[in-house]
Amino acid sequence: MSKVLIVGAGGVGGVVTHKCAQHPEVFSEICLASRNQDKCRAIAAQLDRPIQTAQVDADDVEALVALIESFQPDVLIHVALPYQDLTIMEACLRTGVPYLDTANYEHPDEAKFEYKEQWAFQDRYAEAGNMATLGCGFDPGMTNIYCAYAQKNLFDEIHHIDILDANGGDHGYPFATNFNPEINIREITAKGRYWEEGEWKETDPLAVKRTFDFDGIGEKDLYLLYHEEMESLCQNIKGLKRIRFWMTFSDKYITHLKVLENVGMTSIEPIKVGNAEIAPLEFLKAVLPDPASLGPRTKGKTNIGIIADGIKDGKRRKVHIYNICDHEACYREVQSQAISYTTGVPAVTGAMLMLEGIWKGAGVFNVEQLDPDPFMDRIGDMGLPWQVVELDPDHDPLA
Ligand code: NDP
Repeated sequence: MSKVLIVGAGGVGGVVTHKCAQHPEVFSEICLASRNQDKCRAIAAQLDRPIQTAQVDADDVEALVALIESFQPDVLIHVALPYQDLTIMEACLRTGVPYLDTANYEHPDEAKFEYKEQWAFQDRYAEAGNMATLGCGFDPGMTNIYCAYAQKNLFDEIHHIDILDANGGDHGYPFATNFNPEINIREITAKGRYWEEGEWKETDPLAVKRTFDFDGIGEKDLYLLYHEEMESLCQNIKGLKRIRFWMTFSDKYITHLKVLENVGMTSIEPIKVGNAEIAPLEFLKAVLPDPASLGPRTKGKTNIGIIADGIKDGKRRKVHIYNICDHEACYREVQSQAISYTTGVPAVTGAMLMLEGIWKGAGVFNVEQLDPDPFMDRIGDMGLPWQVVELDPDHDPLA
C-alpha cells in the first residue's frame, strides 16, 4: 500500500492518474498536482475513487519540497514538461522520494534533447541510496525495454536497431499535435540524427523518408528523426553498430509544418509584438488544439516498436517487437487518445515495479538498464500487449 504523487495534469497526467486509480492494491493514495489545480480537479472528477489534488509550480524546488513533505509519497511520477526534470529530481533527492519521468530534460531556450544534466545527478542519487528512473513512457520507455528484452532473451548480439513509431490515428483537424505542441515541433524541426559505428551522423530535417507496411495500420511514410532514447541505447546495448529512429507523418502534416516553419512560427527565439516578447512556437501552441482535447475525436491505431537484427546461436536473426493501440479503445477506458495512453501506462507500470522493489537500485537509470522481464510480463495486462514477429534476416524492410 503506497502513496503516489503525480506531477502534471495534461494528457499523460490524466492517463497516469486513471491507471493508478485502477490499482488501489498498489496505489492506496494518489495526489495529482499541477500548475493549474482546476485541471487536476477535472481529472479527479472522472474517477470512481477519491484522490487528492494540489497546485504546484514545478519550476520551484522549494514549492515541490513543501508539497512532498506534506503528502509524503513513496514515489513521484513526473508527467509535467521536460523543462521541470531538474527541479523535480532535485526535490526528490532532498526528500528521499524515488523519481520517474517520461522525457529527458529540455532547456526552455535551446532544443537539445540530451541526458547530460540528468545523468549528472548519478552520484548524488547513488550516495543518497535513492532511485531515479528516466524515460519510462513509450518512446523513450517501452522501446528501450523492447531493446533490453531482445538483448536478454532473443539475441546473443544485436547489431542494428530501428525504432518505428507509427500513428495511424485521425483527429479530423487539418493540423494538431498529439502531445505538447512545443516539444513535438521542436523534435520534428530539428536536424535528423542517427548513430553508426560509434559516431552521430546528421541529416537535414525530414530529409530521409521510407515506407513501411505496419500491422493494424497499413503502409505509411516514415521519416528519420533524432530521438532521445538513442543516446542511452547506443551505450547500453553492447555490440550495437547502428541505431535509427523513424516516425510517420502524413503529407498533410508535413505541408502544414513546412508552411509554419517558412513563416517563422516554429522558432523558439522570442520576438517583440507591441510591448510583449513571445516565442512564436509558444504562440502557436496557444492557437493549436490542446492535445488533451483530441481524445474524443481520434480514430485509428498506433503501432510502435523496434526492429532488431543480430546473431542468435551463430545464426542471423531479425525481429519486429511492437504494440498496437487503438485510439477509441483508450478513450473509452481513460478518456484519452493513444499517444497519452501509450506514454502513461509504461510510467505507471515502472512506478509499480519500483514500489514493489522489483526495479531497485541507487542512482539514475535509463529503463534499459533495469530488468525487462518483469515489465514485459506485466505490461500486457496493464493495457499494452506486445508481439514478436520474426523477419527475414536477408530482407531490409527499410531499404
Ligand atoms: P501537456 O502539455 O498536455 O501537459 C503538461 C502538464 O504539465 C500540464 O498540465 C501543465 O500544466 C503541467 N505543467 C507545465 N509546467 C508546469 C509547472 N511549471 N508546474 C507544474 N505543472 C506544470 O503534455 P503531455 O501530457 O502531452 O506530456 C507530458 C510529458 O510526457 C511531457 O514531458 C512529454 O514530453 C512527455 N511525453 C513522453 C512521451 C514518451 O513516449 N516518452 C510521449 C508523449 C509525451 P498547465 O496546463 O497548468 O500549464
